[in-house]
Amino acid sequence: GAGVPGVVARPTRMLLRHRYGGPPWWAAATGDLVAEPAAPPYTATLRFTAPTVEMTPYLGWLAERVEAGGGRVLRRRLRHLAEAFDTAPTVVNATGLAAGRLAADPAVHPVRGHLVLVANPGLTTSVRDEDDPAGITYVHPRRHDVVLGGTYQPGVWDTGPDPQTAAAIRRRCVTLVPELADAPVLGERIGLRPARHGGPRVAAEPAGPAGGRLVHAYGHGGAGVTLSWGCAAEVARLALEG
Ligand SMILES: Cc1cc2nc3c(=O)[nH]c(=O)nc-3n(C[C@H](O)[C@H](O)[C@H](O)COP(=O)(O)OP(=O)(O)OC[C@H]3O[C@@H](n4cnc5c(N)ncnc54)[C@H](O)[C@@H]3O)c2cc1C
Repeated sequence: GAGVPGVVARPTRMLLRHRYGGPPWWAAATGDLVAEPAAPPYTATLRFTAPTVEMTPYLGWLAERVEAGGGRVLRRRLRHLAEAFDTAPTVVNATGLAAGRLAADPAVHPVRGHLVLVANPGLTTSVRDEDDPAGITYVHPRRHDVVLGGTYQPGVWDTGPDPQTAAAIRRRCVTLVPELADAPVLGERIGLRPARHGGPRVAAEPAGPAGGRLVHAYGHGGAGVTLSWGCAAEVARLALEG
């Protein structure tokens, strides 16, 4: 990811509250994970470098790659997946939460996530306290702001603002990173992670006119960015080979 717009290798401090049982399975992917003792209520601190993605420049870069490779972007709302075969013989159904209806898959469900954006007082390190019993808590600095999180609310569809939750997120994050105490609030974001009981569905089936193929790729929940390159390689294989 070096040199890709929006991708930044961030030092991360991850505070654990459960018993530390040795390096997590993903430690090798970081290349530099170290564990240190921590004062209660924490059990350990993990330090590592992780790629973080600022989505606006990154999505622009991805769209340019599609077009540079000869792709054409058409935006159209489909009522049924079958309509897509009017445009192409191979269709990838990557419709996120809408796949519940479009693919008639009752396992698809939202997991609401609430974030608060504040001005960046000069932070560069991500801090996570994901075991906080009051709610998943994290501080992710970006170049021009800091993302404060969060919530993880399975089955909740409401995307309306929620000042009490926003205030609670801010309080937890200021406790975690006191430098945030006076950072002006810039806004809040509420999103629905497109989750699926049993995990993502990445699978092909014959569909549409003879020889047509439908590749499903949805249900990535709170990890769609993390999984995107591996998943895209699998989708490409299914689209080309079946
Ligand atoms: C608060 C929050 C924090 C998150 N943090 C992380 C994180 O740290 N790391 C991570 O990896 N992931 C994270 N995620 C999850 C990540 O955002 C999702 O997994 C990812 O965006 C899913 O991508 P997708 O392309 O499958 O679905 P989407 O991004 O939902 O895209 C679906 C697309 O389908 C289109 N569509 C739907 N219906 C139709 C229709 N009828 N006709 C035409 N088009 C249609 C939509 O317009 C949309 O463009 C987070 C999500 C939230 C809400």
